[in-house]
Amino acid sequence: MVISREEIMKILEEVKDPEIPVISIYDLGILRDVRVNEDDVEVIITPTYTGCPAMLEIQKDINNQLKKEGINNFRVTTVLSPAWSTDFMTEEGKAKLMEYGISPPNPSDENDIECPHCHSHNTKMLSQFGSTACKALYKCNDCQEPFYYFKCH
Ligand SMILES: [Zn+2]
Repeated sequence: MVISREEIMKILEEVKDPEIPVISIYDLGILRDVRVNEDDVEVIITPTYTGCPAMLEIQKDINNQLKKEGINNFRVTTVLSPAWSTDFMTEEGKAKLMEYGISPPNPSDENDIECPHCHSHNTKMLSQFGSTACKALYKCNDCQEPFYYFKCH
């Protein structure tokens, strides 16, 4: 293949999380690696939560994005080990989440959650499960705004 790994990575940067359109699959840590072989391109991904319906959509988006760029010889390989965790999220991805209004995973202390609106740490959990199992609903005691926290996995 005449295309470089960097170029493929750049193309795949356009594939976003279907639920959080500001964060790419690379920022999420789903896109693990890209290998450019002699006659094809291998895209290596790790699914987030088992049975997460978004994963099917993500695979479809990867296919569409590569084809749109004229890359037809590729395969998507799913690796399950090491299992995905929020630790794979990039710092840039976490910053984008915060900007979008979702508090990013805080592995150092899950009892100390920052409000994405006013950045206060005076927050409380309203519900363990938000719109999806990976998020919890919080409320800020300072600005009174509700927000989602992306739970650690
Ligand atoms: Zn606040």
